[in-house]
Amino acid sequence: MKIGIIFAMQEELDAFLSKVDDFKSETCKSLKVYHVKHNSHNCVCVLSGIGKVNAAYATTLLINTYAVEAVLNSGVAGGVNVALGTTIIASGVVHHDVDVTAFNYAYGQVPGAEVVFKSDKALKALAMDIAEQAGIHYRSGMIASGDQFITRKASIEAILALYENVYAVEMEAAAIAQVCTLEKVPHLILRAISDVIGEPAQSEGFSAFLAESSENAAKLLVKLIDAL
Ligand code: SAH
Repeated sequence: MKIGIIFAMQEELDAFLSKVDDFKSETCKSLKVYHVKHNSHNCVCVLSGIGKVNAAYATTLLINTYAVEAVLNSGVAGGVNVALGTTIIASGVVHHDVDVTAFNYAYGQVPGAEVVFKSDKALKALAMDIAEQAGIHYRSGMIASGDQFITRKASIEAILALYENVYAVEMEAAAIAQVCTLEKVPHLILRAISDVIGEPAQSEGFSAFLAESSENAAKLLVKLIDAL
């Protein structure tokens, strides 16, 4: 299977590249693309940059230019009632900053799209099995995305009121999942907790834990690719 992988930040990508057998890079349009060989697998990785628009652009490039058959996204996220060191295996992802409720859409729903973009069942089950076997501390649940670095739970109250199993917030997953849904390409989002919403000095903590949490995410990602 030709696998596409999206990383928003260089640190997240570097943690993965340090674990693979070989890679070479090229520039495609305005994105840096990495062709990775690992065991018998070929993966196309892209450094998307931060936020939903960048993530949607990168996902479109992976699917339309590189014809990937599955899209994975690995990186870090803010924890919602979960501790640093936990990895979230998404059961589904939602937008937390979309509100067209004035026209009777559900909170988080983009008109014409589904509210929750569900992860591919087989990829999710495999990732959970691998995490169990490897003793990786994980939770499977929802991830909420928006174009904001969230530091207050009040900012995501509307989405928490709808989905009590939202364990992480970040800035790319729902865009990736939405494009994959439009293109009928399976996807799975893996996010390691880099900061906990509402903790003091959260953004400083994020910077301090970025390398370690990127490493946590990459560990599960590499094992998942090995198993595919
Ligand atoms: N330090 C970066 C900006 C990081 S933005 C810079 O200076 O350019 C945060 C990134 O980590 C995003 O890619 C997002 O997906 C993820 N993330 C981690 N914690 C988050 C939080 N609490 N809220 C939103 N996104 C978070």
